[in-house]
Amino acid sequence: MISNIAENIRKLLDELPPGVSVVAVTKTRTEEEILEAYRAGLRIFGENRVQEMIAKKPLLPDDISWHFIGRLQSNKVKQTVAAASVIESVDSLRLLRLIDASALAQGKCTECLLQVHIAAEETKSGFSLEDMEETDWRQVSDSLKAARICGVMGMATFTDDMDKVRSEFRALYNLFGRIREKYFAGSSHFREISMGMSGDWPLAVSEGSTMIRIGTLIFGERNN
Ligand SMILES: *Cc1c(COP(=O)(O)O)cnc(C)c1O
Repeated sequence: MISNIAENIRKLLDELPPGVSVVAVTKTRTEEEILEAYRAGLRIFGENRVQEMIAKKPLLPDDISWHFIGRLQSNKVKQTVAAASVIESVDSLRLLRLIDASALAQGKCTECLLQVHIAAEETKSGFSLEDMEETDWRQVSDSLKAARICGVMGMATFTDDMDKVRSEFRALYNLFGRIREKYFAGSSHFREISMGMSGDWPLAVSEGSTMIRIGTLIFGERNN
């Protein structure tokens, strides 16, 4: 099978402005495919299923930073904290506290992004914009011992209506700015806006994304 993974990555990195990082989303991909992306220079890989992440991690180089990007059940927090360096999909305070306790017990520092529900679809999870505005993030942040709030993550509505997608990304960017100013002023940790996937990353980057999560554009269509 001829693979274009390295070429796809080169093309993507060529088009990407400096300062935006790429999370290569490896769900359903084989060890060989992931290694090809690694050899092409990528070091951040994302998985949305805990079992898949912990199965792949030991087979792949140690200097990979694994990002967990899927819905996280409380009974999987321990394994996820053990395997991931960043959990991008923190969608409740309860989950954040569980991650904190688990990271403390494991002697780790786990970077967390707050997933914000910006899309129209109810199936997507995350804090509502209202929850985000009403929570005292400084107080929450000060109470954490081993988890660190490093920014926000969001997924736009799956639609061809690019005006809608743009306005959702813009809403997340603006929310990030307000939260940073209000609760994280003077802190360099609150810095990431993870938004943009294969179908909408240029738009996300033009709206201020610092981190894009790309599967299909790198590895080809998934056959689920
Ligand atoms: C699968 C997935 C992606 C990547 O999707 P593509 O469209 O294949 O680039 C990004 N973010 C999350 C949370 C995902 O589950």
